[in-house]
Amino acid sequence: MSDKPERFIDDEGLRLDGRRVDEIRPMKVEMGVLSRADGSCYLEWGNNKVLAAVYGPRELHPRRMQKPNEVLVRYKYNMASFSVEDRIRPGPSRRSTEISKVSGEAFEPVVMTQYYPGAVIDVFAEVLQADAGTRTAAINAATLALADAGIPMKGLVSACAVGKVDGQLVLDLNKPEDNYGQADLPVAMTQDGEITLLQMDGHLTPEELEEGLEMVKKGCQQILEIQREALVSRYGNEDEEGEEAEEESPEEVPEPEEEEDEERDNSFDNEESEAENSDENDVTEEDEGEEDERQ
Ligand code: UDP
Repeated sequence: MSDKPERFIDDEGLRLDGRRVDEIRPMKVEMGVLSRADGSCYLEWGNNKVLAAVYGPRELHPRRMQKPNEVLVRYKYNMASFSVEDRIRPGPSRRSTEISKVSGEAFEPVVMTQYYPGAVIDVFAEVLQADAGTRTAAINAATLALADAGIPMKGLVSACAVGKVDGQLVLDLNKPEDNYGQADLPVAMTQDGEITLLQMDGHLTPEELEEGLEMVKKGCQQILEIQREALVSRYGNEDEEGEEAEEESPEEVPEPEEEEDEERDNSFDNEESEAENSDENDVTEEDEGEEDERQ
């Protein structure tokens, strides 16, 4: 890990990477990059490189995990072992489990879950190169992958972090700012400004928190524009899209796929696939106990 810089902001008000305090890093988005996923998005943000893939809606097995009145959205954040300076151990960690949970919840207010009762939508966010802000980069890619998969949503989710270095608030922390700064506040919000994820490391005064949230809102608005442009360039005119969306009645929303492709379920939890392969209706108490232990 690089050493702590003496200063993060110079006399001109510029940060180590040349940005002003309220500037986000350059972002590049490419949609529909994976032919076997129902929706996908590759996103670069500064030196972060993230791939999001969406599978579903499809029938959820084992059936006991189904939600009778809505679809289950599962989100899995994973950092590739080669994505960071010091190789990280492959597989889930405490950190990735936490990020997966809160990031999945960040989509709850926007995904129209009522259309697919009993089904599941799997969102995989793979960090290929990490340089601070990977959870927010992953959310920005995931929302586009969900849109690419045609999942009905009330709007997009945009995410960005704000933090504090040298006693000053800065938008979209870079790696040294994230590692050595005084605070890091990743936030996700809907396009209406409703906050759907808020975490915090470090310390901010109530006034700084308020100011920081205003800053991050502006950052999210800029990201929303980039996301909209990506959608428009893939799917055409924004107005036409709006008209289509209005015309679409709930009955016209596509049915969830039947489970026909078990191999594709390179799933979240191996135990689910195991249960599925044995006999989904034949889950004994013993099996359930084992599953609980492994969770
Ligand atoms: N990082 C790392 N190894 C880890 C976790 C994180 O090198 O096991 C780096 C990585 O560059 C990441 C940054 O530290 O982007 C900040 O991590 P944090 O947990 O704050 O999450 P993020 O800002 O990426 O959402």
